[in-house]
Amino acid sequence: MTTPPDLPMLPAALHAPLQAGRPLLWLNPGLGGALPARAPSAADVGDAARRLARSAGLLQALFPETCATSGIIDSPLLDVPALQAGLGLDRTQLGTLLLKADHLLPVAGSIKARGGFHEVLAHAEALAVEAGLMDHEGDLAALRAPAAHELFSQRTIAVGSTGNLGMSIGIMAAALGFSAVVHMSADAKPWKKDRLRERGVMVVEHAGDYAAAVAAGRAQCAVDPNGYFVDDENSLLLFLGYAAAARQLGDQLAQAGRTPSSDAPLFVYLPCGVGGAPGGIAYGLKQLFGAHVHCFFAEPTASPCMLVQLAAGVGRNVSVYDVGLDNRTDADGLAVPKASPLASSLMAPLLSGIHTVDDAQLYLDLYQAWRTQGLEIEPSAAAGFGGPRWLAQTPEGRGYLDLHGLVRSLARATHVVWSTGGGLLPEKEHLRFRATAESLAP
Ligand SMILES: *Cc1c(COP(=O)(O)O)cnc(C)c1O
Repeated sequence: MTTPPDLPMLPAALHAPLQAGRPLLWLNPGLGGALPARAPSAADVGDAARRLARSAGLLQALFPETCATSGIIDSPLLDVPALQAGLGLDRTQLGTLLLKADHLLPVAGSIKARGGFHEVLAHAEALAVEAGLMDHEGDLAALRAPAAHELFSQRTIAVGSTGNLGMSIGIMAAALGFSAVVHMSADAKPWKKDRLRERGVMVVEHAGDYAAAVAAGRAQCAVDPNGYFVDDENSLLLFLGYAAAARQLGDQLAQAGRTPSSDAPLFVYLPCGVGGAPGGIAYGLKQLFGAHVHCFFAEPTASPCMLVQLAAGVGRNVSVYDVGLDNRTDADGLAVPKASPLASSLMAPLLSGIHTVDDAQLYLDLYQAWRTQGLEIEPSAAAGFGGPRWLAQTPEGRGYLDLHGLVRSLARATHVVWSTGGGLLPEKEHLRFRATAESLAP
């Protein structure tokens, strides 16, 4: 492989392990820097959280399965002692492992629910307020009125997706009466396309990768005056919807008596694709808990787009292909060649680090979740499970703990691994994942 011209932007120590696809933990040297000008405020995140709260009645009417949580899109925070033991993480030494079970999020079955729903609802709300069909900051139940449905039926909402974002946006947009179009990349799974079509969503298939599907969708929407494109690489509304999860986690930690403090740090491990979902959540958590929370992302060894972006420097045009990687992974939710400019610029001063994981490890960790706790997740959703191991059991990780004075408080730490998807998968897919894991087990 010839060295691409912009590889010298990356620290030399990263070249060999990245290009060989060797799993690694990268620590962010930019941690603690200044946020960019016009970074979203806590009030902005609060607005998004309130918009989702204002949709509770609407969601219960549209999706009866949300009645169990009173129309609030949230997932349980699970104590997972058997998984913790299965992963080889000693509770008395390393603290407590909890699992934020977003694979159980109602309707969308993935971490994409909060962000995707938030952006569709915000767009619908803006149209309805403009048309005089609801009050500013009113109850979003008004979006179910026949006049609103009629208004939305003349409009299109489109998105590019490898699968889960398309489900979240497509299902919500179609339920409100919009015509919904999802541009999908070649690696999107056939059952996801079928599921969307069943819900009345138009699926456009593209031969290229995720970035190509997004670009095609964006271009098509640009020439349609009634079209609205949810831009996963730049959308603030998506980002803020994701960030709302931080407050939910904060409440759940408080209930568990685990509010982070200088004496009891919080570590969060989030699978990263384009960076919007984990970025929004990390952003919200840093607003709430500052230096007491340490956010790590997890990316496939074939698609470490955020790692490459942050290591090269924000604003540089760089993709995983430039490093000689092929972006091919079974973690379809994370198969993204290029990070979101919005998410990467906001993560540059806030993110603690990124660890990479190969597909075999994803299957083994997915299998552990099943064997120990009966959880059924997709490969992408297992990406963060190795995070605590990297932190506590490698020289790089110990270096981070030392640098931040965390060694003494580690036993009282909380580690939250975020399981991000899999709730809507057909049982056949889960069986296939477990068969793959069994074939890999040593
Ligand atoms: C999309 C997705 C992610 C990552 O979200 P990004 O916003 O793309 O970074 C993680 N896990 C699953 C299952 C996903 O679908």
